[in-house]
Order: sequence, then C-alpha cells, then structure tokens
Amino acid sequence: MRVRNKTWAEPLIESNRDRIVTKGADIRGQWQNRFERNQPINIEVGMGKGQFIINMAKKYPEQNFIGIEVQKSVAAIALKNSLDMDIQLPNLQFLYADGAELTDYFENGEINKVYLNFSDPWPKTRHEKRRLTFKTFLKVYETILVDHGELEFKTDNMGLFEFSLTSLNNYGMTYEGVWLNLHDSSENEQNVETEYEQKFSAMGQPIYKLKAHF
Ligand code: SAM
Repeated sequence: MRVRNKTWAEPLIESNRDRIVTKGADIRGQWQNRFERNQPINIEVGMGKGQFIINMAKKYPEQNFIGIEVQKSVAAIALKNSLDMDIQLPNLQFLYADGAELTDYFENGEINKVYLNFSDPWPKTRHEKRRLTFKTFLKVYETILVDHGELEFKTDNMGLFEFSLTSLNNYGMTYEGVWLNLHDSSENEQNVETEYEQKFSAMGQPIYKLKAHF
C-alpha cells in the first residue's frame, strides 16, 4: 500500500506522543512503561492502516499490542483510526519503523508474538530480501522474541506463501499449523480480519495462514 504524504500526519503524531513512537531506540527495553499494564507484548510488522492490531487490542485487553509501519503517513492513518474509536485502548501503541531494524528498538526477548499480515509480496527474485519472511527478518524476529516465540502469517499470495513455508522451514522453525483456506477452517473462529484480508476474500481469493515457532 502506497499513500500520498499527509500534511496532517506530522502534527497528529506530535500531539499524540503518548500513543506513537518514532524513535524506538530511545525506549528499547522499556516498552512495558508505555502501557497501562505489564502484560505480554505482541507486534504486527507492516500494520497498514491498523485495522487488525486495533481490533486485536480491543478483543484481548489482557495483552499489549504494537502496530509497526514503515510509512509515516500510513502509521498516522492507523493512529487516527484508533483515536476515532469510541473507546481508548491502553494496551495499544504504534511504532513508525522498518521491520528490518527491530533489534534496535526492542531488547532480546521483549516481544511475545509477531504477526505478519498480507506483507508486500516482492515477486521478483532479485527483491526476495525485502520479503518480511526472508531469513534476515526471521533472525530479527527470533532475537526480539521470547524463547520459542511464535510467528503468525496470513496472505492471499500463493507465491509468497510458498516462499515463506520454505524460508521458515530452512530456518529450522516448527509449524503448529498451516491453512490453505483459512476462512473455511475451524481456525477461522478466532480470526481477526485485516483490511487486505477483507478486500481479497471479497474477491473470492482463499486466505493462507501459518503458525510457527522458533
Ligand atoms: N497488514 C495490513 C493488512 O493486512 O491490511 C497491511 C498490508 S499492506 C499490503 C503491507 C504494509 O506493510 C504496508 O503498509 C507497508 O508500508 C508495510 N511494510 C512493508 N515493508 C515493511 C517493513 N520493512 N517494515 C514495516 N512495515 C513494512
């Protein structure tokens, strides 16, 4: 998703410094202080406009959530969407950052679980290093996650899903489940849909999902 620069993004971020972090390195190892309660922290890398992470925070108040996004205007849209809600979520934070640099922003073991949803597929082989399931990203997730930390990944893109299955397997991860049609499975009972998931499933695309741990 590419969006035009939003002139209101910077002022909105400035006036909501308690909800969004733009210099993650300043609070490395101290993320729990940003939340009302000390409880497991889950992150979504590439949250887009935030639909998934906002609804997860709403559904699971006993867990903390951080939505991470590399485009500032998109991170600001997610922030705005959360502020527009009828309730405030003390268990939700946003971070404007590149997923490749997360070891600069989180201490080893600071994160409980990583979610990747409808990540950009980067179909050309010469761009495979940019895929969020490439081995260098897996190394980053493994470092910031608790021991044997979990990764959940959803996509409509068969090529990216095939690549990811191989990548995680070659990294030595253990699968807890693989679904080739999430919406037709019992796994769907707990499912929280993302913006892209709604868009693609409305077009009749099957949604793929995997759950694995290091
Ligand atoms: N997860 C959302 C959903 O399912 O609706 C958004 C999916 S959108 C296709 C992918 C998002 O990931 C984009 O907003 C993009 O800017 C972001 N992204 C891509 N590479 C990233 C990276 N290295 N770190 C953080 N965000 C990234």
